[in-house]
Amino acid sequence: MIDKSRYDESKPLDMHNLQFDVAAAKLNLEPWIAAKIKQPRRELTVSFPLRYDDGRIELLTGYRVQHNTLRGPGKGGIRFHPQVDLDEVRALAGWMTWKCAVVDIPFGGAKGGVTCDPTTMSLAEKERLTRRYIWEISPIIGPEQDIPAPDVNTDAQVMAWVVDTYSVFKSYTCNSVVTGKPLSIGGSLGRLKATSQGCVYVLAEAARAVGLNLDGCRVVVQGMGNVGYHAAEILHDAGAVVVGMSNVQGGLYNPGGLDPRRVLEHFQVTGDITTYPEAQAVTNQELLELPCEVLIPAALEGQIGRSNAERVQAKIIVEGANGPTSPFADDILYDKGVFVVPDILANAGGVTVSYFEWVQNLQKLFWTEDDVNQKLRDILVRSFGEVHAVARQEKINMRTAAYMLAIGRVAEAKRVRGIFP
Ligand code: NAD
Repeated sequence: MIDKSRYDESKPLDMHNLQFDVAAAKLNLEPWIAAKIKQPRRELTVSFPLRYDDGRIELLTGYRVQHNTLRGPGKGGIRFHPQVDLDEVRALAGWMTWKCAVVDIPFGGAKGGVTCDPTTMSLAEKERLTRRYIWEISPIIGPEQDIPAPDVNTDAQVMAWVVDTYSVFKSYTCNSVVTGKPLSIGGSLGRLKATSQGCVYVLAEAARAVGLNLDGCRVVVQGMGNVGYHAAEILHDAGAVVVGMSNVQGGLYNPGGLDPRRVLEHFQVTGDITTYPEAQAVTNQELLELPCEVLIPAALEGQIGRSNAERVQAKIIVEGANGPTSPFADDILYDKGVFVVPDILANAGGVTVSYFEWVQNLQKLFWTEDDVNQKLRDILVRSFGEVHAVARQEKINMRTAAYMLAIGRVAEAKRVRGIFP
């Protein structure tokens, strides 16, 4: 029996470790294998100076953690955020290992980040930050080693600077070092919306499992970035009613429905989502508790915990973000009958299309957007079915089922590869 009181709900790494420990205990793994695959394989901490436009120079700290590379190269995004620290990057890297394994794509898990606030930086400052950070981690990344991608506060433009900096480092153009890059330098059709499209594919499966009709159902989305905004837009276009949206500034509620495009336009023009006229302003905490059938947390980790899980009204939660729900909240939600599609399955659409992008780069071929989406749907529907079957068979929640599948696959890779020397 796991003593859950040893894990601190406010720490993403503790939550990652608890999720791992609960599932690993059910698998009865050899202790040395469990210990080995729980820990990050390699961690790099770098510090470098950033020159601001006004001439000021500040020393920044960045990280790249390769949690596991048993099944293939490390894979995982780059985050620029004030909250980034080594433990958060370790947790995010671990979640990438389990995510790639649960959808059975040939990658391990990695993640990177820089502790900084890019929202206050000019484009030129963000470019210098990106290039200097990538230069520092260049010795350990590469198409066969570790392939970064976008995450919070990084986008296709940032990935283009990654390609350029790494190509200077290697002295030849190497676009397969990173995914989520612009189409003009080898990006994949469908990658921009892939994480959100994936959320919608697994939501459709979850809705079928619980007998919910998505047409006209009420949806709340937390976070209005790459994942949250596109999820809201796709669901709005598909006939769902998006009643709540938010970003870091706060949230909006309109029981009659919000038009995500108009909310985004308002934000782009005014810089403030909370002044959107056709809605009531709510806090991000209130947003999570709004009446709705579907809740998509798509901002940061640590949003649904012991203190608020009981008040969540949604019937289905699809975790667009990584780590938004604690295992303590999972227990409460499971008892309430809320169907949670865990992050490592729900938002795996991003890394799956990143895999397609990498495959296209290596083969020097380009697929159509329909091809990409069809292959994405196939992988996610199959993975959902596999996880759901384990959940039903073992009478456990979808998260522990997903971890059991993923950990089982990584453990088997370790078992057959053995120990060197
Ligand atoms: P993003 O930077 O594009 O957007 C983040 C959004 O969250 C912004 O709208 C921001 O204002 C909002 N936000 C930040 N802090 C918040 C808070 N405390 N409360 C409410 N909103 C807040 O980032 P993204 O790429 O959309 O990533 C969002 C989440 O999805 C992260 O957990 C990320 O790890 C995860 N994720 C992203 C991808 C991807 O392909 N980009 C793939 C899988 C998972």
